[in-house]
Amino acid sequence: MFGAIEAGGTKFVCGVGTTPEDLKTVQFPTTSPQATTEAAVAYFRERAGGELQAVGIASFGPVDLHPESPTFGYITSTPKSGWRNFDFAGAIRRSLGVPVGFDTDVNGSALGEARWGAAQGLSDFVYLTVGTGIGGGAMVHGRILHGLMHPEMGHIRVPHDVSQDPYPGACPYHGDCLEGLASGPAIEARWGATARDLPPDHPAWVLEAHYLALGLANWVCTLSPERIVLGGGVMEQTHLFRLIRKDLAQILNGYIQVAEITERREDFVVPPRLGSRAGVLGALVLAEQASASEAR
Ligand code: ADP
Ligand code: ZN
Repeated sequence: MFGAIEAGGTKFVCGVGTTPEDLKTVQFPTTSPQATTEAAVAYFRERAGGELQAVGIASFGPVDLHPESPTFGYITSTPKSGWRNFDFAGAIRRSLGVPVGFDTDVNGSALGEARWGAAQGLSDFVYLTVGTGIGGGAMVHGRILHGLMHPEMGHIRVPHDVSQDPYPGACPYHGDCLEGLASGPAIEARWGATARDLPPDHPAWVLEAHYLALGLANWVCTLSPERIVLGGGVMEQTHLFRLIRKDLAQILNGYIQVAEITERREDFVVPPRLGSRAGVLGALVLAEQASASEAR
């Protein structure tokens, strides 16, 4: 039996099980690190007791993912009060006495989609979430890319034509990075209405698709993914997919001559298959991996 935590800035989703079929989950609000991790630990003790083999955590960040670092498993520079420099993985490991797997929330979703969802069987793909922020995870040669820290795909720069779109952008660090231009809050600030309430024929969506397609073009040209999975609240607007696919082909302008881009676009830019469960299922994969590497 494995424990899974999808740790978000506003809520925790915890699950116990081994597969999407048997995973039972609960949710509670994210308060202080102590109270929230205690609630998670209490849930695992009650549901799994001595059967618990490992826990996986897919966490909001930034986080330290370097196994050899003294602050491995910590949440690092978050503005979220109380959570900065919190030893998240350590707190769970000490309380439960089992191996703990740890990664970012979006890398967790990527792992979940790779194992059971829209990216099954692929060794190279990108998972992007477009919600309150924009975050991306990449699988490269069958492994989730960490590198120097972990990718921060939402903060790439994309061309911003201020004569067409004078909105300065919402990112506190960069203004008009991709997240600053295309996150849910950016849409709301630019148009004065929530993304959920804008009708499908509103000009907001052509612009949104354009910014996202610019981001995708960058990852196509750098990571060469076999597929790109787009999730998050904003992508509930399913009409965006068609706009993004078309815009992406236009931006690449015939240069990338593979059928996924020129013909089979519906298979290249796709919605997640696990929906809102991707993150917690990815945490389950992290638990499984932690258990396997402990056994080695
Ligand atoms: P979070 O990023 O906080 O984990 P979400 O992925 O649900 O959560 O993203 C929340 C953002 O997505 C909000 O800015 C909200 O306006 C937007 N959003 C949520 N649902 C929809 C929807 N059905 N259509 C368009 N935008 C949505
Ligand atoms: Zn930014």
